[in-house]
Amino acid sequence: MAIVHEILNYFKVEINREQCKKCKRCVNHCSYGVLSFNGEKIVSDDQKCVACQRCAVMCPGNAIRIVQNESFLPPHGNYTRKIRNIIWAQSGDGGVLLAATGNDRPIRSIFDDLLLDACQVTNPSIDPLREKIETKIFFGRRPEKLTFVSDQDDLEGVSLKTKLMPNFEMDMPIMVGHMSLGSISYNACHAIYKAAKELNIVAGTGEGGLHPDFFEYAPNIITEVASGRFGVDLNYLHNAAALEIKIGQGAKPGHGGHLPGEKVSSLISQTRMIPKGSDALSPYPHHDIYSIEDLAQLIAALKEATRYKVPVGVKIAAVHNSAPIAVGIVRGGADFLTLDGFRGGTGAAPRIIRNHAGIPIELAIAAVDERLRQEGLRDQVTLIAGGSIRYSADLIKAIALGADIGMCAMPVLIAMGCRVCQQCFRGLCSWGIATQQKYLVKRLDVDIAKNRIKNLFHSWNEELKEVLGAMGIDSVESLRSNRDRLRYIGPNPHIAEILGVKHAGE
Ligand code: SF4
Ligand code: SF4
Repeated sequence: MAIVHEILNYFKVEINREQCKKCKRCVNHCSYGVLSFNGEKIVSDDQKCVACQRCAVMCPGNAIRIVQNESFLPPHGNYTRKIRNIIWAQSGDGGVLLAATGNDRPIRSIFDDLLLDACQVTNPSIDPLREKIETKIFFGRRPEKLTFVSDQDDLEGVSLKTKLMPNFEMDMPIMVGHMSLGSISYNACHAIYKAAKELNIVAGTGEGGLHPDFFEYAPNIITEVASGRFGVDLNYLHNAAALEIKIGQGAKPGHGGHLPGEKVSSLISQTRMIPKGSDALSPYPHHDIYSIEDLAQLIAALKEATRYKVPVGVKIAAVHNSAPIAVGIVRGGADFLTLDGFRGGTGAAPRIIRNHAGIPIELAIAAVDERLRQEGLRDQVTLIAGGSIRYSADLIKAIALGADIGMCAMPVLIAMGCRVCQQCFRGLCSWGIATQQKYLVKRLDVDIAKNRIKNLFHSWNEELKEVLGAMGIDSVESLRSNRDRLRYIGPNPHIAEILGVKHAGE
């Protein structure tokens, strides 16, 4: 696969010569080699600029501005600058173009076309400052029904007969999506795991496993069992919050993973349990799974390996037939199901797959929730949904459409300092997030990053309570699949039909 940069620069570095102190701080901070000092002044090679903004933020003289390079190409509505760049890059290199973060096509978000309901006269709202609104959530398998036994006639002697499956109790219905050590740095992983522990939520390891330094965070970690089986280690699995078999990922449905050998440092080699410097290639399919029965066997094996103490789930990318697949997965014994939509983030994916494969998470949640209901399975399983949950409004609408828990990663990266420059696959992240270069990794302060993640999710949870209060609902569990509290204002009535949501005014 080719790592191809933009052929025609999108950005230009403007330096205010009067304000520049010639301190060369910008030169030292730019990890992409854009800036240099020629003995007289700072000069820039704009071709290399990715607009990561590190130089502008670090400049003590406020002398740098990154602007869009608008005048370089004659405009064309069809052959846009982006399309021309793609053609030039491929005709020069002949490779598959890589991309990072989520789908960057300006496709309309369905979440933005949904409005939330609020109470007025007949149904009173609840004041979250004065009354308790519950945002706790459990994930794991729930029993089909509860059976009680009693050896007496009164309630005193009643006890639960149904054997409950392991469930993890979270303080808010949010989890940090899977990002592996390798795709992001040691400090970024550390900040995320610490935040998850302090918030009492969960975070995913991605397919790289959990480094022994982080075993203490295992109770708040979902470990991914991907097709490469990297880093799956019984030493910590017994204590993990959950295990997740990764069949697909929203940013690259039907695709495996590739961490180039040069990024497999001793730290990554220890975590993934592979030799240092070797490519970490995970196959596109699991070579032991060709049917739901095979998947059911792996679920059973993982449950047995963890002595039935840890919920075991399955992650799939949201694709055209997600609903029947979801039914098979739940019938196959999964305790939770993770759906990842086509805007989901990634450290590296072929641009063609990231931008053109899969379906929006909003439609997938509604379709899967509805189908599980029809099959009488919905209440037994926890549904986690991610792939463009950007802020609390998306989270709330995802829950109202049918998810139990919202999963996100890009907002977590942005909270830590990411500028969404989309260059994660190059391993040169100037903010110390998507890199393994030691001099860059140390730029990310673990505790500052951890606190920023905590603040972000705390504010989402407070906003969730505000909305629940306005709707007159005192528990997030009562919002789940409550589609009657949503209205559609988008241009396509068929979308409203698939979502099971009425149009505004109805
Ligand atoms: S960091 Fe700012 S002040 Fe220092 S050399 Fe660069 S542009 Fe000039
Ligand atoms: S994590 Fe770093 S490299 Fe990736 S998009 Fe954000 S700023 Fe850019």
